[in-house]
Amino acid sequence: MAATDKGFAPYHDPGLPPIVMPECSVERKLKGQKALVTGASSGIGKSIAVALGHAGADVVVNYSRDQKGADEAVAALQACGVRAYAQRADVASEDDVLAMFERARAEFGTIDILVANAGLQQDAPFDQMTLAQWNKVISVNLTGQFLCTRESVREFKRRGVKPEVSCAAGKIICVSSVHDVIPWAGHVNYAASKGGISMMMKSVAQEVAPFRIRVNAISPGAIRTPINMDAWQTPEAYAALMKLVPYKRIGETDDIARAAVWLASDDSDYITGATLYVDGGMTLYPGFETGG
Ligand code: NAD
Repeated sequence: MAATDKGFAPYHDPGLPPIVMPECSVERKLKGQKALVTGASSGIGKSIAVALGHAGADVVVNYSRDQKGADEAVAALQACGVRAYAQRADVASEDDVLAMFERARAEFGTIDILVANAGLQQDAPFDQMTLAQWNKVISVNLTGQFLCTRESVREFKRRGVKPEVSCAAGKIICVSSVHDVIPWAGHVNYAASKGGISMMMKSVAQEVAPFRIRVNAISPGAIRTPINMDAWQTPEAYAALMKLVPYKRIGETDDIARAAVWLASDDSDYITGATLYVDGGMTLYPGFETGG
């Protein structure tokens, strides 16, 4: 039965809305914590960065090229009364990542939360995919997460737990994708990178749990950002997308940001090695909605 048959209209709102910032939390669950968010000049990363700030964390806003977007995130964070600065770094470059963490230690003293979010797509039919396209996506999406996760683990182990700040020595959130479990024709490099993140995240989580370091992933479904404009910009594209989303609306970046704040907070202290699918049911085999 279509959503309209149940008496409500399917959500349909193409066009990129302004980012809706969550209210500054009175509770400030992340007060005193220092966070680093990669790819935070746009989309999901920008919303996560601002939401962490609204929960009380100071935030390093990493960007690769879009300094304007990074500056906007920094301004939104400062307006909320936390410290923030923009840091250019290519997450696929070891030198850039080392320098980014060194500056974070110099500015903030330490890092308590990493959100490894930077990612990109370079799509092609498999038999036309170049080695350069393969390497680019793997190096940013997977190697970038490896480098930032490794530097975070080094810092968390060095510092250890500070109970007045958090139950854990550190929290890592890898932004993966539903394509860590859903194969994706025409995007083999992207799906391989996200599948790789899944096993990297779980293996690191197993290795560092005794140090009270928590490592988890968020796997978004279809979220309205620049990376996937083709999928939501026209009514036709939006209608086709909704066939894949049982909840019948596209996700917004704040849907991911709220989950990230929770995974970074002590409210989720006993959770490590988990993947949280924030996808409106996209991983529920929507093709079987009507019984198959
Ligand atoms: P986006 O294009 O707005 O964000 C990606 C960010 O990564 C950009 O800010 C970009 O500048 C940054 N980036 C790219 N290469 C980089 C590099 N080498 N170093 C540092 N930063 C770099 O798109 P988004 O949708 O917000 O994507 C964020 C993450 O969410 C990605 O990992 C993406 O794979 C994942 N994701 C998005 C969706 C979705 O529907 N939007 C779904 C599943 C997963």
